[in-house]
Amino acid sequence: MFKTNSSNEIPAESQWQKCLQRICEKIGPASYETWFRTTDFLINHGNAHILVPNQFFADFIEEHFSPLIEEILKEAQIPFNTISFVPTQKEWKIVEPLCEELTDSRVRTVPLSVETHQKFHPNYTFERFVVGDSNRMAHAAALAVAEAPGKTTFNPLIVYGGTGLGKTHLLQAVGHFAQTEGTADHIVYLTSEEFSAQYIDFVVHRKDSTSFYKKFTFVDLLLIDDIHFFSGKPGTQKEFCRIFNKLLLERKQIVLSSDRPPDKIPDMMEHIISRFMGGLIADIQPPNLETRMAIIRQKAEIDGLSLPNEVVQFIASHITSNVRELEGTLIKLIASSSFTGKDITLDVAKELCGDVISRKNERISIRLIQQKVADSFGISANQLSAHTRKRDVSFPRSVAMYLCKKLTSQSLRTIGLDFGGRDYSTVIYSCKKIDSDLENNQELRKKIEAIEASINSHQQ
Ligand code: ADP
Ligand code: MG
Repeated sequence: MFKTNSSNEIPAESQWQKCLQRICEKIGPASYETWFRTTDFLINHGNAHILVPNQFFADFIEEHFSPLIEEILKEAQIPFNTISFVPTQKEWKIVEPLCEELTDSRVRTVPLSVETHQKFHPNYTFERFVVGDSNRMAHAAALAVAEAPGKTTFNPLIVYGGTGLGKTHLLQAVGHFAQTEGTADHIVYLTSEEFSAQYIDFVVHRKDSTSFYKKFTFVDLLLIDDIHFFSGKPGTQKEFCRIFNKLLLERKQIVLSSDRPPDKIPDMMEHIISRFMGGLIADIQPPNLETRMAIIRQKAEIDGLSLPNEVVQFIASHITSNVRELEGTLIKLIASSSFTGKDITLDVAKELCGDVISRKNERISIRLIQQKVADSFGISANQLSAHTRKRDVSFPRSVAMYLCKKLTSQSLRTIGLDFGGRDYSTVIYSCKKIDSDLENNQELRKKIEAIEASINSHQQ
Protein backbone atom coordinates (compact mmCIF):
# COMPACT_ATOMS: atom_id res chain seq x y z
CA MET A 1 0.00 0.00 0.00
CA PHE A 2 2.99 2.29 0.20
CA LYS A 3 3.89 4.31 -2.79
CA THR A 4 7.36 5.36 -3.62
CA ASN A 5 8.51 8.80 -4.38
CA SER A 6 8.37 8.91 -8.17
CA SER A 7 11.44 11.07 -8.45
CA ASN A 8 13.51 9.18 -5.96
CA GLU A 9 12.24 5.58 -5.68
CA ILE A 10 12.27 5.57 -1.92
CA PRO A 11 10.79 2.47 -0.29
CA ALA A 12 8.50 4.53 1.89
CA GLU A 13 7.37 1.76 4.20
CA SER A 14 10.76 0.79 5.54
CA GLN A 15 11.74 4.46 5.70
CA TRP A 16 8.63 5.19 7.73
CA GLN A 17 9.35 2.29 10.07
CA LYS A 18 12.70 3.88 10.80
CA CYS A 19 11.03 7.24 11.35
CA LEU A 20 8.55 5.62 13.72
CA GLN A 21 11.38 4.16 15.71
CA ARG A 22 12.93 7.63 16.06
CA ILE A 23 9.59 9.15 16.99
CA CYS A 24 9.16 6.50 19.68
CA GLU A 25 12.60 7.32 21.05
CA LYS A 26 11.75 11.02 21.13
CA ILE A 27 8.26 10.99 22.61
CA GLY A 28 8.39 7.80 24.65
CA PRO A 29 6.53 4.52 24.18
CA ALA A 30 3.27 5.62 25.82
CA SER A 31 2.59 8.57 23.50
CA TYR A 32 3.94 6.57 20.59
CA GLU A 33 1.51 3.73 21.27
CA THR A 34 -1.40 6.11 21.47
CA TRP A 35 -0.76 8.33 18.51
CA PHE A 36 1.62 6.65 16.05
CA ARG A 37 1.34 2.90 16.30
CA THR A 38 -1.54 2.77 13.82
CA THR A 39 -0.28 5.32 11.33
CA ASP A 40 0.78 4.66 7.75
CA PHE A 41 2.73 6.77 5.37
CA LEU A 42 2.86 7.46 1.69
CA ILE A 43 4.53 9.90 -0.60
CA ASN A 44 2.64 11.19 -3.55
CA HIS A 45 4.10 13.66 -6.04
CA GLY A 46 6.67 14.63 -3.46
CA ASN A 47 4.05 15.33 -0.79
CA ALA A 48 4.14 13.35 2.44
CA HIS A 49 0.83 11.95 3.68
CA ILE A 50 0.56 10.51 7.16
CA LEU A 51 -2.47 8.22 7.27
CA VAL A 52 -4.28 8.30 10.60
CA PRO A 53 -7.46 6.61 11.81
CA ASN A 54 -9.79 9.63 11.87
CA GLN A 55 -10.08 13.42 11.95
CA PHE A 56 -9.56 13.53 15.68
CA PHE A 57 -6.15 11.87 15.33
CA ALA A 58 -5.32 14.12 12.37
CA ASP A 59 -5.99 17.29 14.37
CA PHE A 60 -4.20 16.08 17.47
CA ILE A 61 -1.08 14.83 15.69
CA GLU A 62 -0.87 17.93 13.53
CA GLU A 63 -1.19 20.23 16.52
CA HIS A 64 1.26 18.41 18.75
CA PHE A 65 3.75 16.60 16.58
CA SER A 66 4.11 18.44 13.22
CA PRO A 67 7.53 19.99 13.94
CA LEU A 68 8.83 16.67 15.25
CA ILE A 69 7.64 14.73 12.19
CA GLU A 70 9.14 17.32 9.90
CA GLU A 71 12.45 17.09 11.71
CA ILE A 72 12.50 13.31 11.58
CA LEU A 73 11.60 13.09 7.88
CA LYS A 74 14.44 15.47 7.14
CA GLU A 75 16.80 13.48 9.33
CA ALA A 76 15.83 10.32 7.39
CA GLN A 77 16.49 12.24 4.17
CA ILE A 78 13.02 11.67 2.82
CA PRO A 79 12.40 14.51 0.41
CA PHE A 80 8.96 16.09 0.69
CA ASN A 81 7.30 19.39 -0.16
CA THR A 82 4.39 19.33 2.27
CA ILE A 83 3.09 17.10 5.03
CA SER A 84 -0.59 16.36 5.44
CA PHE A 85 -2.50 14.21 7.89
CA VAL A 86 -5.11 12.11 6.17
CA PRO A 87 -7.95 10.52 8.13
CA THR A 88 -8.72 7.09 6.70
CA GLN A 89 -11.88 6.58 8.77
CA LYS A 90 -11.13 2.89 8.93
CA GLU A 91 -11.63 0.88 12.06
CA TRP A 92 -8.74 0.96 14.51
CA LYS A 93 -6.11 -1.63 13.88
CA ILE A 94 -5.98 -4.17 16.64
CA VAL A 95 -2.39 -3.94 17.69
CA GLU A 96 -0.37 -5.74 20.27
CA PRO A 97 1.00 -3.25 22.76
CA LEU A 98 4.74 -2.66 22.58
CA CYS A 99 5.24 -4.17 25.98
CA GLU A 100 3.08 -5.44 28.81
CA GLU A 101 3.38 -2.44 31.11
CA LEU A 102 1.90 -0.16 28.51
CA THR A 103 -1.44 -1.86 28.76
CA ASP A 104 -1.68 -0.53 32.29
CA SER A 105 0.10 2.75 32.11
CA ARG A 106 -0.35 4.24 28.67
CA VAL A 107 -3.53 6.19 29.26
CA ARG A 108 -5.24 7.06 32.49
CA THR A 109 -8.36 4.96 32.58
CA VAL A 110 -11.47 6.96 33.27
CA PRO A 111 -14.56 5.15 34.51
CA LEU A 112 -17.19 5.42 31.83
CA SER A 113 -20.16 4.14 33.76
CA VAL A 114 -23.22 6.31 34.18
CA GLU A 115 -22.71 8.45 37.23
CA THR A 116 -25.65 8.10 39.51
CA HIS A 117 -24.35 10.13 42.40
CA GLN A 118 -22.16 13.03 41.44
CA LYS A 119 -20.29 14.70 44.28
CA PHE A 120 -20.48 18.48 44.57
CA HIS A 121 -18.35 20.86 46.57
CA PRO A 122 -20.24 21.35 49.85
CA ASN A 123 -19.46 25.09 50.01
CA TYR A 124 -20.56 25.84 46.48
CA THR A 125 -24.25 26.30 47.16
CA PHE A 126 -26.78 29.03 46.36
CA GLU A 127 -26.96 29.92 50.07
CA ARG A 128 -23.27 30.72 50.10
CA PHE A 129 -23.31 32.73 46.89
CA VAL A 130 -23.51 36.44 47.62
CA VAL A 131 -25.72 38.20 45.10
CA GLY A 132 -24.93 41.70 43.88
CA ASP A 133 -25.48 43.77 40.76
CA SER A 134 -22.54 42.08 39.06
CA ASN A 135 -23.98 38.56 39.17
CA ARG A 136 -27.72 38.97 39.78
CA MET A 137 -28.87 37.74 36.41
CA ALA A 138 -26.49 34.74 36.31
CA HIS A 139 -27.58 33.76 39.81
CA ALA A 140 -31.31 34.09 39.03
CA ALA A 141 -31.02 32.09 35.82
CA ALA A 142 -28.95 29.39 37.54
CA LEU A 143 -31.50 29.08 40.33
CA ALA A 144 -34.38 28.90 37.83
CA VAL A 145 -32.80 26.03 35.89
CA ALA A 146 -31.88 24.22 39.12
CA GLU A 147 -35.51 24.38 40.22
CA ALA A 148 -36.88 23.12 36.93
CA PRO A 149 -34.15 21.61 34.75
CA GLY A 150 -35.14 21.47 31.09
CA LYS A 151 -38.41 23.25 31.70
CA THR A 152 -37.31 26.85 31.34
CA THR A 153 -36.36 28.60 28.14
CA PHE A 154 -32.81 28.95 29.50
CA ASN A 155 -31.41 26.02 27.61
CA PRO A 156 -28.50 25.94 27.34
CA LEU A 157 -27.67 28.37 30.11
CA ILE A 158 -24.21 29.78 29.64
CA VAL A 159 -22.54 31.68 32.44
CA TYR A 160 -19.46 33.60 31.45
CA GLY A 161 -17.02 35.88 33.22
CA GLY A 162 -13.40 36.39 34.25
CA THR A 163 -11.44 34.10 36.47
CA GLY A 164 -12.37 33.78 40.15
CA LEU A 165 -15.77 35.42 39.75
CA GLY A 166 -17.92 32.44 40.76
CA LYS A 167 -18.67 30.45 37.57
CA THR A 168 -17.68 27.09 39.02
CA HIS A 169 -19.47 28.00 42.25
CA LEU A 170 -22.72 28.64 40.34
CA LEU A 171 -22.50 25.49 38.19
CA GLN A 172 -21.84 23.38 41.25
CA ALA A 173 -24.70 25.11 43.07
CA VAL A 174 -27.08 24.12 40.27
CA GLY A 175 -25.95 20.48 40.56
CA HIS A 176 -26.06 20.54 44.34
CA PHE A 177 -29.56 22.00 44.41
CA ALA A 178 -30.92 19.61 41.77
CA GLN A 179 -29.48 16.69 43.70
CA THR A 180 -30.66 17.67 47.17
CA GLU A 181 -34.08 18.90 46.03
CA GLY A 182 -34.49 15.99 43.63
CA THR A 183 -35.31 18.10 40.57
CA ALA A 184 -33.04 15.93 38.37
CA ASP A 185 -32.11 12.26 38.67
CA HIS A 186 -28.97 11.91 36.64
CA ILE A 187 -26.56 14.79 36.91
CA VAL A 188 -23.14 14.97 35.33
CA TYR A 189 -20.64 17.71 36.12
CA LEU A 190 -17.40 17.79 34.14
CA THR A 191 -14.78 20.32 33.28
CA SER A 192 -14.23 20.61 29.54
CA GLU A 193 -10.79 19.09 30.08
CA GLU A 194 -12.28 16.05 31.76
CA PHE A 195 -14.72 15.74 28.88
CA SER A 196 -11.84 15.87 26.39
CA ALA A 197 -9.75 13.38 28.38
CA GLN A 198 -12.65 10.94 28.58
CA TYR A 199 -13.27 11.31 24.89
CA ILE A 200 -9.60 10.65 24.08
CA ASP A 201 -9.71 7.66 26.39
CA PHE A 202 -12.70 6.36 24.51
CA VAL A 203 -11.05 6.94 21.14
CA VAL A 204 -7.90 5.15 22.20
CA HIS A 205 -9.46 2.17 23.95
CA ARG A 206 -12.66 1.99 22.00
CA LYS A 207 -13.72 -1.27 23.56
CA ASP A 208 -17.32 -0.86 22.52
CA SER A 209 -18.52 2.01 20.50
CA THR A 210 -21.22 3.14 22.91
CA SER A 211 -19.27 3.28 26.17
CA PHE A 212 -18.49 6.99 26.00
CA TYR A 213 -22.03 7.90 25.04
CA LYS A 214 -23.58 5.72 27.72
CA LYS A 215 -22.43 8.23 30.26
CA PHE A 216 -24.62 10.87 28.65
CA THR A 217 -27.57 8.75 27.59
CA PHE A 218 -29.64 9.14 30.72
CA VAL A 219 -28.43 12.52 31.81
CA ASP A 220 -31.10 15.00 32.92
CA LEU A 221 -28.72 17.78 33.81
CA LEU A 222 -25.34 18.23 32.16
CA LEU A 223 -22.95 20.80 33.63
CA ILE A 224 -19.74 21.53 31.74
CA ASP A 225 -17.29 24.01 33.21
CA ASP A 226 -14.81 26.14 31.25
CA ILE A 227 -15.94 25.32 27.72
CA HIS A 228 -13.44 27.84 26.33
CA PHE A 229 -10.94 24.99 26.57
CA PHE A 230 -12.80 23.24 23.73
CA SER A 231 -11.21 25.87 21.52
CA GLY A 232 -9.14 24.36 18.72
CA LYS A 233 -10.21 20.78 19.48
CA PRO A 234 -12.48 19.94 16.55
CA GLY A 235 -12.73 16.23 17.38
CA THR A 236 -13.93 16.91 20.92
CA GLN A 237 -16.24 19.67 19.69
CA LYS A 238 -17.90 17.33 17.24
CA GLU A 239 -18.62 14.76 19.92
CA PHE A 240 -19.76 17.41 22.36
CA CYS A 241 -22.07 18.77 19.68
CA ARG A 242 -23.61 15.36 19.08
CA ILE A 243 -24.34 14.88 22.78
CA PHE A 244 -25.49 18.47 23.16
CA ASN A 245 -27.99 18.20 20.26
CA LYS A 246 -29.39 14.94 21.53
CA LEU A 247 -29.93 16.27 25.06
CA LEU A 248 -31.52 19.48 23.82
CA LEU A 249 -33.93 17.52 21.63
CA GLU A 250 -34.93 15.50 24.67
CA ARG A 251 -35.38 18.72 26.64
CA LYS A 252 -32.63 17.85 29.09
CA GLN A 253 -30.93 20.77 30.81
CA ILE A 254 -27.46 21.93 29.85
CA VAL A 255 -25.50 24.52 31.83
CA LEU A 256 -22.08 25.68 30.67
CA SER A 257 -19.47 28.17 31.80
CA SER A 258 -16.87 30.05 29.82
CA ASP A 259 -14.33 32.77 30.50
CA ARG A 260 -15.65 34.83 27.56
CA PRO A 261 -18.85 35.18 25.52
CA PRO A 262 -19.36 32.07 23.34
CA ASP A 263 -18.99 33.95 20.06
CA LYS A 264 -15.58 35.19 21.22
CA ILE A 265 -14.15 31.71 21.77
CA PRO A 266 -11.61 31.18 19.00
CA ASP A 267 -11.73 28.06 16.86
CA MET A 268 -15.17 26.92 17.86
CA MET A 269 -17.51 25.31 15.33
CA GLU A 270 -20.05 27.80 13.95
CA HIS A 271 -22.81 25.31 14.57
CA ILE A 272 -22.02 25.05 18.28
CA ILE A 273 -21.84 28.81 18.67
CA SER A 274 -25.19 29.34 17.00
CA ARG A 275 -26.78 26.70 19.26
CA PHE A 276 -25.27 28.46 22.26
CA MET A 277 -26.70 31.77 21.15
CA GLY A 278 -30.17 30.20 21.17
CA GLY A 279 -30.03 29.74 24.94
CA LEU A 280 -29.49 32.27 27.70
CA ILE A 281 -26.10 33.87 28.07
CA ALA A 282 -25.54 35.52 31.44
CA ASP A 283 -22.38 37.33 32.38
CA ILE A 284 -20.72 37.77 35.77
CA GLN A 285 -18.83 41.00 36.22
CA PRO A 286 -16.29 41.79 38.96
CA PRO A 287 -18.21 42.61 42.15
CA ASN A 288 -18.58 46.23 43.26
CA LEU A 289 -17.36 47.47 46.63
CA GLU A 290 -20.62 46.73 48.42
CA THR A 291 -20.72 43.14 47.15
CA ARG A 292 -17.05 42.60 47.95
CA MET A 293 -17.71 43.72 51.52
CA ALA A 294 -20.71 41.38 51.77
CA ILE A 295 -18.61 38.48 50.48
CA ILE A 296 -15.85 39.14 53.02
CA ARG A 297 -18.38 39.37 55.85
CA GLN A 298 -20.02 36.13 54.79
CA LYS A 299 -16.74 34.22 54.50
CA ALA A 300 -15.48 35.58 57.84
CA GLU A 301 -18.72 34.58 59.49
CA ILE A 302 -18.49 31.03 58.11
CA ASP A 303 -15.00 30.80 59.60
CA GLY A 304 -16.23 32.15 62.93
CA LEU A 305 -14.15 35.29 62.63
CA SER A 306 -15.36 38.69 63.63
CA LEU A 307 -13.72 41.38 61.57
CA PRO A 308 -13.88 45.10 62.41
CA ASN A 309 -15.72 47.11 59.80
CA GLU A 310 -12.65 49.12 58.90
CA VAL A 311 -10.75 45.92 58.09
CA VAL A 312 -13.57 44.68 55.86
CA GLN A 313 -13.61 48.04 54.10
CA PHE A 314 -9.83 48.09 53.74
CA ILE A 315 -9.63 44.65 52.12
CA ALA A 316 -12.65 45.25 49.89
CA SER A 317 -11.34 48.55 48.62
CA HIS A 318 -7.91 47.17 47.77
CA ILE A 319 -8.63 43.71 46.41
CA THR A 320 -10.89 44.52 43.54
CA SER A 321 -10.32 42.08 40.73
CA ASN A 322 -11.80 38.78 41.83
CA VAL A 323 -13.38 36.86 44.66
CA ARG A 324 -10.72 34.15 44.76
CA GLU A 325 -8.17 36.78 45.65
CA LEU A 326 -10.45 38.19 48.35
CA GLU A 327 -10.69 34.71 49.82
CA GLY A 328 -6.93 34.25 49.65
CA THR A 329 -6.36 37.46 51.59
CA LEU A 330 -8.88 36.46 54.20
CA ILE A 331 -7.28 33.04 54.65
CA LYS A 332 -3.95 34.74 55.17
CA LEU A 333 -5.43 36.98 57.86
CA ILE A 334 -7.11 34.06 59.60
CA ALA A 335 -3.91 32.01 59.55
CA SER A 336 -1.94 34.87 60.96
CA SER A 337 -4.38 35.67 63.73
CA SER A 338 -4.58 32.05 64.84
CA PHE A 339 -0.81 31.83 64.76
CA THR A 340 -0.09 35.00 66.73
CA GLY A 341 -3.25 34.96 68.83
CA LYS A 342 -3.71 38.65 68.01
CA ASP A 343 -6.93 40.25 66.82
CA ILE A 344 -7.04 41.43 63.27
CA THR A 345 -6.82 45.19 63.45
CA LEU A 346 -6.50 47.61 60.56
CA ASP A 347 -2.73 47.82 61.14
CA VAL A 348 -2.35 44.03 61.08
CA ALA A 349 -4.39 43.88 57.86
CA LYS A 350 -2.32 46.62 56.26
CA GLU A 351 0.89 44.87 57.12
CA LEU A 352 -0.25 41.49 55.89
CA CYS A 353 -1.88 42.69 52.71
CA GLY A 354 0.90 44.99 51.66
CA ASP A 355 2.41 42.64 49.11
CA VAL A 356 -0.94 41.70 47.57
CA ILE A 357 -1.81 45.34 47.16
CA SER A 358 1.45 46.33 45.54
CA ARG A 359 1.36 43.28 43.26
CA LYS A 360 -2.08 44.35 42.10
CA ASN A 361 -0.65 47.53 40.65
CA GLU A 362 1.82 45.58 38.59
CA ARG A 363 -0.75 43.54 36.78
CA ILE A 364 -0.01 43.41 33.09
CA SER A 365 -2.46 42.15 30.53
CA ILE A 366 -1.80 39.70 27.71
CA ARG A 367 -3.39 42.19 25.34
CA LEU A 368 -0.90 44.91 26.32
CA ILE A 369 2.03 42.57 25.72
CA GLN A 370 0.62 41.54 22.33
CA GLN A 371 0.22 45.18 21.36
CA LYS A 372 3.76 46.14 22.37
CA VAL A 373 5.37 43.14 20.69
CA ALA A 374 3.35 43.68 17.51
CA ASP A 375 4.36 47.38 17.45
CA SER A 376 7.99 46.45 17.85
CA PHE A 377 7.90 43.96 14.95
CA GLY A 378 5.74 46.16 12.74
CA ILE A 379 2.73 43.84 12.52
CA SER A 380 -0.78 44.12 13.94
CA ALA A 381 -1.65 42.59 17.32
CA ASN A 382 -4.42 40.52 15.71
CA GLN A 383 -1.93 38.79 13.44
CA LEU A 384 -0.40 37.18 16.53
CA SER A 385 -3.57 35.15 16.95
CA ALA A 386 -3.95 34.28 13.27
CA HIS A 387 -3.32 30.81 11.94
CA THR A 388 -0.19 31.36 9.98
CA ARG A 389 3.23 29.84 10.41
CA LYS A 390 5.04 32.51 8.41
CA ARG A 391 8.17 33.42 10.30
CA ASP A 392 7.55 37.17 10.30
CA VAL A 393 4.44 36.44 12.37
CA SER A 394 5.37 33.21 14.14
CA PHE A 395 8.56 34.64 15.62
CA PRO A 396 6.93 37.74 17.18
CA ARG A 397 4.19 35.38 18.41
CA SER A 398 6.81 33.29 20.22
CA VAL A 399 8.31 36.45 21.73
CA ALA A 400 4.89 37.60 22.91
CA MET A 401 4.12 34.20 24.46
CA TYR A 402 7.50 34.23 26.19
CA LEU A 403 6.80 37.68 27.67
CA CYS A 404 3.29 36.69 28.76
CA LYS A 405 4.75 33.76 30.67
CA LYS A 406 7.44 35.95 32.18
CA LEU A 407 5.40 39.02 33.07
CA THR A 408 1.92 37.77 33.91
CA SER A 409 0.58 35.13 36.26
CA GLN A 410 -1.71 33.70 33.59
CA SER A 411 -1.67 29.94 33.06
CA LEU A 412 -0.06 28.49 29.94
CA ARG A 413 -3.53 27.37 28.85
CA THR A 414 -4.95 30.87 29.10
CA ILE A 415 -1.98 32.31 27.25
CA GLY A 416 -2.40 29.75 24.44
CA LEU A 417 -6.08 30.52 24.24
CA ASP A 418 -5.43 34.23 23.83
CA PHE A 419 -3.16 33.49 20.90
CA GLY A 420 -5.89 32.13 18.64
CA GLY A 421 -6.72 29.11 20.77
CA ARG A 422 -3.32 27.44 20.67
CA ASP A 423 -2.47 24.53 22.88
CA TYR A 424 -0.39 25.07 26.02
CA SER A 425 2.33 22.81 24.61
CA THR A 426 2.82 25.39 21.85
CA VAL A 427 3.37 28.05 24.53
CA ILE A 428 5.96 25.85 26.24
CA TYR A 429 7.69 25.21 22.92
CA SER A 430 7.77 28.94 22.08
CA CYS A 431 9.14 29.94 25.49
CA LYS A 432 11.92 27.34 25.27
CA LYS A 433 12.78 28.50 21.80
CA ILE A 434 13.11 32.16 22.83
CA ASP A 435 15.07 31.15 25.93
CA SER A 436 17.59 29.34 23.80
CA ASP A 437 17.68 32.08 21.13
CA LEU A 438 18.45 34.61 23.85
CA GLU A 439 21.55 32.72 24.91
CA ASN A 440 23.56 33.83 21.93
CA ASN A 441 21.63 36.60 20.29
CA GLN A 442 22.53 39.99 21.74
CA GLU A 443 20.34 41.84 19.29
CA LEU A 444 17.26 39.87 20.27
CA ARG A 445 18.05 40.35 23.94
CA LYS A 446 18.14 44.13 23.45
CA LYS A 447 14.93 44.10 21.47
CA ILE A 448 13.08 42.13 24.13
CA GLU A 449 14.44 44.35 26.90
CA ALA A 450 13.16 47.39 25.02
CA ILE A 451 9.72 45.81 24.67
CA GLU A 452 9.67 45.00 28.39
CA ALA A 453 10.63 48.57 29.25
CA SER A 454 7.83 49.85 27.07
CA ILE A 455 5.32 47.50 28.74
CA ASN A 456 6.45 48.59 32.19
CA SER A 457 6.31 52.29 31.37
CA HIS A 458 2.75 51.79 30.16
CA GLN A 459 1.86 50.41 33.58
CA GLN A 460 2.98 53.45 35.54
P1 ADP B 1 -14.41 30.84 38.53
O1 ADP B 1 -14.93 29.47 38.28
O2 ADP B 1 -15.25 31.91 37.91
O3 ADP B 1 -12.97 31.01 38.21
P2 ADP B 1 -14.97 30.15 41.27
O4 ADP B 1 -16.39 29.74 41.15
O5 ADP B 1 -13.97 29.07 41.43
O6 ADP B 1 -14.54 31.12 40.08
O7 ADP B 1 -14.87 31.17 42.50
C1 ADP B 1 -13.66 31.45 43.18
C2 ADP B 1 -13.94 31.50 44.66
O8 ADP B 1 -14.70 32.64 44.94
C3 ADP B 1 -14.74 30.30 45.14
O9 ADP B 1 -14.24 29.88 46.37
C4 ADP B 1 -16.14 30.82 45.27
O10 ADP B 1 -16.86 30.19 46.31
C5 ADP B 1 -15.92 32.29 45.59
N1 ADP B 1 -16.99 33.15 45.08
C6 ADP B 1 -17.08 33.67 43.83
N2 ADP B 1 -18.18 34.44 43.71
C7 ADP B 1 -18.78 34.41 44.89
C8 ADP B 1 -19.98 35.01 45.41
N3 ADP B 1 -20.75 35.81 44.67
N4 ADP B 1 -20.30 34.76 46.70
C9 ADP B 1 -19.53 33.98 47.47
N5 ADP B 1 -18.40 33.38 47.06
C10 ADP B 1 -18.03 33.58 45.79
MG1 MG C 1 -13.91 27.79 37.47
